[in-house]
Amino acid sequence: MIVTITMNPSIDISYPLGEFKVDTVNRCDIARKTAGGKGLNVSRVLHQLDDPVTATALLGGALGEFIKENLAATGISFAFSKIAEETRNCVAILHDGKQTEILESGPIVSEAELVAFHQDLDTLLREATVLSISGSLPKGAPTDYYNQLLDMAKAKNIPVVLDTSGASLLAAVQHANQPYLIKPNAEEVASLLGIPEITNLTDLKISLQSELFRDIPVIVVSLGSDGAFVKADDKFYKVDIPKIEVKNPVGSGDSTVAGLVSGIYHKQPLTDYLKKAMVLGMLNAQEATTGHVNLANYDTFYRQIKVTEVK
Ligand code: ATP
Repeated sequence: MIVTITMNPSIDISYPLGEFKVDTVNRCDIARKTAGGKGLNVSRVLHQLDDPVTATALLGGALGEFIKENLAATGISFAFSKIAEETRNCVAILHDGKQTEILESGPIVSEAELVAFHQDLDTLLREATVLSISGSLPKGAPTDYYNQLLDMAKAKNIPVVLDTSGASLLAAVQHANQPYLIKPNAEEVASLLGIPEITNLTDLKISLQSELFRDIPVIVVSLGSDGAFVKADDKFYKVDIPKIEVKNPVGSGDSTVAGLVSGIYHKQPLTDYLKKAMVLGMLNAQEATTGHVNLANYDTFYRQIKVTEVK
């Protein structure tokens, strides 16, 4: 089975407002509240694909219970570790065609809670064939905490797909046991290399030739509506996608990760799982709900995606 990890999940609350008024009361008729966090989005899409997935996360308090109930209702199998502090809320105010977000940093996790999570995961990984780690670390976890999980997976010969950013991604790419696949965007690649930005594919290819990325087997740089640029061993590929109508691209990165993880789980060739990942990102972008895809258009989009080797 596939195991997903979300170390700092959230209740995602969205408040759609016609207009957002500052320094006064805003009333909202429909508030949507869902189990959020990048790894949970990945789990939802894998579940839609009928892939066997177990979601793990650190959960605390009544909001943690809400996440459990929410996932149980969708039929996703989960194995959560309990923490003392309350799971966070993340609020998105949708107004005037824009999105204003308020993200709580979330609970502080104790060392004992991390040890307990580690033990729970160790048991769970006995049945895992792919491990998917997504998102930020909670306060209390060391910056290089994911390296411990990479070591655990390596000992069990389980490939890891890591989708995180900042210092914890840098620590993981510099670690002896590296992830099998990472999915940064161009901004995250630039930040890893300490350069201001990457504005074209030539510079992106040069960036991916850096020593830092030498031993990571697959790097998928997602480029939003421009598809993706990929380094696999010593080869480079551009993945071109068709133009589509977009409703809400939030979570497209997570849906893309679900496609990559699914492809690795099914031992698909690289080209096939890159297409799968792109289609899922596109399908998510066409939905209002984050981490949800309508598979009816899957085959039509799949046929239009081109993977070309870049020499
Ligand atoms: P997020 O953090 O919001 O999930 P991300 O930066 O990790 O996003 P993106 O590169 O924006 O990921 O999107 C991942 C994939 O989803 C893209 O490679 C593409 O296949 C699809 N996608 C995203 N946005 C669009 C768009 N506007 N039009 C078509 N496809 C899109």
